[in-house]
Amino acid sequence: MRRSDRVRELRRKLDEARDGIEVPCGSFPEKWFNQQSTKDTREARQLCNTRCDVREQCLAYALAAGERYGVWGGESSPDGSTLRSRVATDSISA
Ligand code: SF4
Repeated sequence: MRRSDRVRELRRKLDEARDGIEVPCGSFPEKWFNQQSTKDTREARQLCNTRCDVREQCLAYALAAGERYGVWGGESSPDGSTLRSRVATDSISA
């Protein structure tokens, strides 16, 4: 499967999982995409990890898509590198 097809498929799965449920980022999206505020980022990550039923699908999509900005699935990349490199680094140093 081509990468673009994989990204599209994971996005479809995320959208299906989100359909009809409330997710924390839906109420205050600025908290998820305001990279200027460390406090907002920390709070967003905590809400993803404790209050969202689609965290796994969200992170899977963001990793595949190479997202660099915002909080996705409880992860963020404050230096603008891809979430994939951030998560890989965390796994290695854990
Ligand atoms: S895990 Fe994804 S969908 Fe859920 S609150 Fe976080 S950013 Fe939003």
